[in-house]
Amino acid sequence: MNGEIRFTFERALKAVAESDVSIDLTNPKQIINWAYGHDAWSSYHERRGNAFVSLGSSVAKQLLCDTNWFINNVSEEVLDPEGKFRMKRLLSDGQLCVKVLLNDPKATWFGISFAPKAQMVNEPVNNAIILDTTKNNPQVYALTGYEPELIVPLKTHSYLLHSATSKDGNHEFTFQRQLNAKVPTDVAIELEVNSLINWAYGHDAWPSYHHDRGSAQITFHTFDLTSTITTDYGFITTPTPWILLAFAVWGAFLGLLVTHCFGRSSHRFLDKSLAAPPRYSRDERIIDTWLWLPLSELKVGEGIALLHYIGCLAAVFVLVENSTQRWSVTSGHLAVVHLVFLLLPVARGLYWEQLFFGTSFERIVKFHRILGRLFIIFAAVHLYTNARLVNVLTSSIFGSQKVIPLYGFIAFVSFVVLGIFALPIMRRQAFELFYYTHRVAAIVGIVFAFLHAPTIRIILVVPVAIYALSYVIRAKSFFHRHQASFTSYSDNTVSVVLKSMKNLEQNIPLGAYFWVAIPSISYLEWHPFSAIATTTKDGEPTFGFVMKALTDDGFVSRAREKLENQEASVLLSGPYGNLSLRLNEYSNAVLIAGGIGITPLLHIFNELKDNSNINASLHWIVRNPAEFQSTQYFMKFDAKAVGKLHLYADEVTESGRLVISGDLPIEYSFGRPRIDDLLKSYQGTRSCVIVCGPQGLAQYVQSRARAYDLPLHKETFLL
Ligand SMILES: Cc1cc2nc3c(=O)[nH]c(=O)nc-3n(C[C@H](O)[C@H](O)[C@H](O)COP(=O)(O)OP(=O)(O)OC[C@H]3O[C@@H](n4cnc5c(N)ncnc54)[C@H](O)[C@@H]3O)c2cc1C
Repeated sequence: MNGEIRFTFERALKAVAESDVSIDLTNPKQIINWAYGHDAWSSYHERRGNAFVSLGSSVAKQLLCDTNWFINNVSEEVLDPEGKFRMKRLLSDGQLCVKVLLNDPKATWFGISFAPKAQMVNEPVNNAIILDTTKNNPQVYALTGYEPELIVPLKTHSYLLHSATSKDGNHEFTFQRQLNAKVPTDVAIELEVNSLINWAYGHDAWPSYHHDRGSAQITFHTFDLTSTITTDYGFITTPTPWILLAFAVWGAFLGLLVTHCFGRSSHRFLDKSLAAPPRYSRDERIIDTWLWLPLSELKVGEGIALLHYIGCLAAVFVLVENSTQRWSVTSGHLAVVHLVFLLLPVARGLYWEQLFFGTSFERIVKFHRILGRLFIIFAAVHLYTNARLVNVLTSSIFGSQKVIPLYGFIAFVSFVVLGIFALPIMRRQAFELFYYTHRVAAIVGIVFAFLHAPTIRIILVVPVAIYALSYVIRAKSFFHRHQASFTSYSDNTVSVVLKSMKNLEQNIPLGAYFWVAIPSISYLEWHPFSAIATTTKDGEPTFGFVMKALTDDGFVSRAREKLENQEASVLLSGPYGNLSLRLNEYSNAVLIAGGIGITPLLHIFNELKDNSNINASLHWIVRNPAEFQSTQYFMKFDAKAVGKLHLYADEVTESGRLVISGDLPIEYSFGRPRIDDLLKSYQGTRSCVIVCGPQGLAQYVQSRARAYDLPLHKETFLL
């Protein structure tokens, strides 16, 4: 009624039902948990706490001041206007425990009295309990007059003196008494009415006149178990941050070990894919999309890394203790684990790919996608299990993890939006929309995930810092413009060649690509293109790109239309990308390119063609022979290199020859090569295959390379 709810019940002391806890009257610390909620039962509580209650009267009399309940759960009340004089009290079963506290470095004595009036000396005479701070031994006195000699120590009194301390200006003493008057100077304490407590303290040696005094009216209630709210809700620290730290350190150690210490035969084993890819078709079967394709993309080494990751998840699942709300808490923790690790692969920079994992961005980014999907699933389970119990739109702190549900909900919505815009259909149809929604929603999601729970803050701080740092390092690309010339050597393509290597790494790694923006087209559109080392017209080393327009209104088409045969400045971020093979472990490299997939392979071929240790042969398949002209600026070949170059045009019916490099004629065949013919002879030798081109070609080459047991690096230009 009027916001006050009461209920009364009677129960046996012993446990009658299985879920009963028996009540032990001799236990001074019987635990009573209490809770109340604001949402329809059964829901999460709004507040909860516990009380230690002594239900046995004989026990309570002796030990009231010793109970945890009094020591920990009773709050202090201020008695004087300055807030220096305070008391704590607990009443139970006719006994009263009082602690009196004073903060005054100059105090020499202080004390209180239960009195009939708000004055020191009364008729009939009442007593007071005083602590001389030099002695730390409270004494009871009869206050027969105001003069020091009229303050008479009492040998017989009803106070059980409990303890006293005096340190650094903080003085306190504790005593216990019964409510009834036991000796003539006692004032009985009545329940439910105001009782007077006089207080005083002095600065001169006791007994002396007071420095200050006052009175307070205090009501003692029949049932005075006024428990306090557990404001920290019993925050349960979880081992999740430690598990993640251990896993990250272990993973980095293994990565370094495998990348830098293992030899060729171990790498060959670890680089094997777990399954052959299914035959490529535009309408893939579900079993291919969800089973065979992912398995074919997974190497043995990556599978081992995944097993470790599953172990990490299992450890979080088992060790995050919360028996009552198992799924609601654990699913949240598992979601955060995924969030941590999905950030790392996209903290772009060669350090991941080269230093820790010895693999390519294309291979790592798939983990970003997988972890992203799992993250959304676990976050959805977390939301579902909690939404049944709590209002997810509440902004008050709640639960053993001190979460703010509303912020978690906002984070979830942001990540779902991000996930929808990251679907392949979105990435292919509207890349910029995908890209910028990804950026903004990720920041909103991470900020609100941070605000959602303290554990998330601890866990996410490192990956977010790494990501932010990698971003800051990359941001310098916004400030360096590079002059480049734009020339078109074939329909739908444009070659972009940098005028110099100023402000850039002098070595372009194999498999490297740059994110390129052309300010005269747009500052916001950044596109990845594979870098090809070459020389300027003056013979100075430089590099460039060959860009192919896939649609009439795309970035490349606009660049070609606007800048053909002109110079313009470009912004570059990179180099990124790395080969997932260590080329120096092989004697032969078979490079197979389809269409514009020639760009990274041409760079590799250019770098290897004069290398006596690795015999590289390049097979380039296009539709129309005119496409061979697209890369001519980067094909500065001698006769030896031309001998290793094999061109195929599959839309013509006759072989031919063309001149694309100096005066040397290069022959091309019609139709497509039989991939088996290209690879068969390398079986059992120290050879590897690198393929770049349309998905169908790449997938087919992958399956044939696997059949001949040849390690493979694959690029499809798909992000
Ligand atoms: C690592 C890597 C290296 C690449 N190297 C080359 C190269 O050397 N030469 C070359 O011609 N192409 C390369 N590409 C592909 C090239 O990035 C895209 O074709 C180009 O971004 C398309 O831009 P567009 O606006 O002209 O195409 P659109 O006609 O608008 O789009 C065609 C397709 O390109 C993809 N795409 C669009 N915008 C982007 C973007 N900002 N980032 C990534 N993909 C996008 C989408 O999937 C879209 O479906 C590479 C891609 C990757 C991932």
